[in-house]
Amino acid sequence: MDKIYLDYAATTPVDGRVLLAMQPYFNERFGNPASVHRYGQQAEAAVNAARETLAALLGCQPSEIVFTSCGSESDNLALRGTALAMRQRNGANWILTSRTEHHAVSRTAEDLERHYGFQVAWLEADQHGLVRPETVAGAIGAKTALVSIMYANNEIGTINPIQEIAGICRGQSVPFHTDAVQAAAYLPIAVADLGVDLMSLGAHKFYGPKGVGALYVRSGTPILAHLTGGGQEDGLRAGTTNVPYVVALAEALRLTVEERQERSAHVRPLRDHMIGRLLEEIPETRLTGHPEQRLPNHASFVFKGVDGNLLLTLLDAAGFACSSGSACKTGDPEPSEVMAALGLPREWGLGSLRVTLGSGTTPEHVEAFLGVLPGLVEKARRLNR
Ligand SMILES: *Cc1c(COP(=O)(O)O)cnc(C)c1O
Repeated sequence: MDKIYLDYAATTPVDGRVLLAMQPYFNERFGNPASVHRYGQQAEAAVNAARETLAALLGCQPSEIVFTSCGSESDNLALRGTALAMRQRNGANWILTSRTEHHAVSRTAEDLERHYGFQVAWLEADQHGLVRPETVAGAIGAKTALVSIMYANNEIGTINPIQEIAGICRGQSVPFHTDAVQAAAYLPIAVADLGVDLMSLGAHKFYGPKGVGALYVRSGTPILAHLTGGGQEDGLRAGTTNVPYVVALAEALRLTVEERQERSAHVRPLRDHMIGRLLEEIPETRLTGHPEQRLPNHASFVFKGVDGNLLLTLLDAAGFACSSGSACKTGDPEPSEVMAALGLPREWGLGSLRVTLGSGTTPEHVEAFLGVLPGLVEKARRLNR
């Protein structure tokens, strides 16, 4: 039996065109971009071209792009670098963020609180996991060092009103960071339109390789280095540039922006059909996240009285790869922080399921999934009693 992958929010396969673009930089053109000789010049030209491509796609200057090793690193650099620089500048020591953030943001904020003397204000999200601009407006002030609110949520697909939130931060001269790691696959990323000061990207969520990302840093945004050494990436992030991966990131994002309409048009009707059928056919089921303001490839549910991890195991045995929101794999499971932030009671929050579609998803895959899921939810409920 064929395996069916429905977990594109966890990671995506590398696009064949991206693989082709990066390949020469492993051997034929292996130079260190910092070297003076022509091997170095060739590698440097590739990195410059990738930086220019990214800048054109984001509508910014090449000097405003920092290449990193992943989306998590971009989030870390944004939070640590800017929080520390802002405190140095004006004594601001509050970080405003939300419990619905990816751990790369929320755990970093906690770390800054525990070990670096910052204070974190956890902003409320509504029942769809959306952070309202009014909530930000009510919490921001002269002591705010940084606001970090994600563009689209990985677990529940909700899209936040980033432009409005950015406008509020700009009005208070507080730097605004958004984690766009999940959003970039489907949503507009022109930074001037969004109004953001910092924005994180990670290639493996849009058909690039794992282990490479970027951070947009608007010129003039206070930020300190988080890797010191050879002074690469404008002194913000030392380390010999991963040339093939940087080339791959740029090519993957170029294709994503170019094909955005088609990619959305491919997944959205399949996703909508799936949501409609599952809510109709499986009793005591809810959609999590926003009903409309959500990523076009993203469906997420909770089933009352189901152990989400057990359901994943049953699905895997039936050939389907999905994911759940409950955090731990052993011992006493707890609903994830995102499920808790939605205010779901425990007997619902433990039974979460995320189904995310992508380029390889076909109508047949969706039909096969719809054919097995109701029975597996029923089985998981029986086994849970
Ligand atoms: C995947 C993801 C990350 C982490 O990116 P990595 O490249 O895997 O480190 C951060 N934020 C969001 C929203 C994500 O979906």
